[in-house]
Amino acid sequence: MVAQRRELVTAVPGPRSAALQERRVRSVSAGIGAVLPIYIDEASGAILRDVDGNQLIDFASGIAVTSVGNSDPRVVARVREQVEKFTHTCFMVTSYEPYVEVCEQLNELTPGDHEKRSALFNSGAEAVENAVKIARYATGRDAVVAFDHGYHGRTNLTMALTAKAMPYKSGFGPFAGEIYRVPMAYPYRWPTGPERCSAEAFAAFVEMVHAQVGELNTAAVLLEPIQGEGGFIVPAPGFVARVAEWCHQNGIVFIADEVQTGFCRTGDWFASTHENVVPDLITTGKAIGGGLPLAAVTGRAELMNAVHTGGLGGTYGGNPIACAAALGAIETMREDNLVERARQLGGVLRSRLDTLASKYPVIGEVRGRGLMQAVELVSDSGAKTPDPAVTAALTAACHRNGLLTLTCGTFGNVLRFLPPLVISEELLDEGLSVFESALAEVAG
Ligand SMILES: *Cc1c(COP(=O)(O)O)cnc(C)c1O
Repeated sequence: MVAQRRELVTAVPGPRSAALQERRVRSVSAGIGAVLPIYIDEASGAILRDVDGNQLIDFASGIAVTSVGNSDPRVVARVREQVEKFTHTCFMVTSYEPYVEVCEQLNELTPGDHEKRSALFNSGAEAVENAVKIARYATGRDAVVAFDHGYHGRTNLTMALTAKAMPYKSGFGPFAGEIYRVPMAYPYRWPTGPERCSAEAFAAFVEMVHAQVGELNTAAVLLEPIQGEGGFIVPAPGFVARVAEWCHQNGIVFIADEVQTGFCRTGDWFASTHENVVPDLITTGKAIGGGLPLAAVTGRAELMNAVHTGGLGGTYGGNPIACAAALGAIETMREDNLVERARQLGGVLRSRLDTLASKYPVIGEVRGRGLMQAVELVSDSGAKTPDPAVTAALTAACHRNGLLTLTCGTFGNVLRFLPPLVISEELLDEGLSVFESALAEVAG
């Protein structure tokens, strides 16, 4: 176990990380990036210790994965037990209980009390692909509607569903067909102002689908209830519910991509709940596996069961060790009431960020829910000009001082806060003080 405190003993990155980075450059594809080239030796809770002995506060959670903290004791115990029993059979060959139990948990925890079924996969992208397959099969229609600023993965179909060209799509086409993009209800940047955003964005959505796609050709509408990579955009109030209701009226499958927002992150088990939305299908990933690769599609039994037997699957989907880890992570979320914890710490985070926003005009907006919040950084608060340079400088200052933060956003000007939900209030506070010093240094 790594002590839960920040400690710097060398520069970040230090000499051992630098030596490993040289090996990496000689052996690993340059196509794979790194936010901060330090090499982790051990991690627990909300602290990462690198090979030089530096201990960083983790405001990234491996991109919203380690919500229960790194190496959560319940995850570790269940994985140990499972790995000694058996490691793999392939669920499509011979079955095992942990897979069924994860599906039972998903059916219970996701929004709505209708009859549900689940299927397990390895990654968020794979879950999204399968949700689209299911929606197309069940409706007999082809078109899928996705939103500006949306992010759904890096496979061919999910690249097509993702909005941002660099770094996700540029040079990687041609992309899958029958994908249509519509505006997102992005209150901060809505041309006529945030008050009119929900109604106008919904009207634009309906008109575009009607005119350019046709309701009867549309299999699914795919939406993140809070957009992740696109900039932690919280859709204007009521927008998600209007879209879901309209899908329902038109026989279109409404898919909520909760790969990033799911599993207590936003202060509810799922972000759809904040908008009282019950999706037809819901994709999950990231935090579900407590750090092991696992993802799922959960939804209405009649949709999930529409596909012919053998039509869904994969060699590793729902691997028993990943399922054991997920059961440990879900147990921690329940036992430690991480829904409540994300709400409470989210309040602490919001009030500190609001205070900073009132002091530093470079912060154009503070937004998000629970422990999924971000600041959008602008060089001119009137014109709202995105400032990716200040975002990069702030990030570098945080990293130098032992706080791991991430950026996001279509314009690269959003700094996001994604600590493990089990972080102590003291450590959260200390991390925010590092961020505050970075602001004073870069934008003071
Ligand atoms: C990360 C993410 C994905 C892709 O998940 P992978 O496990 O990286 O394939 C899909 N959708 C959303 C909303 C995500 O945040």
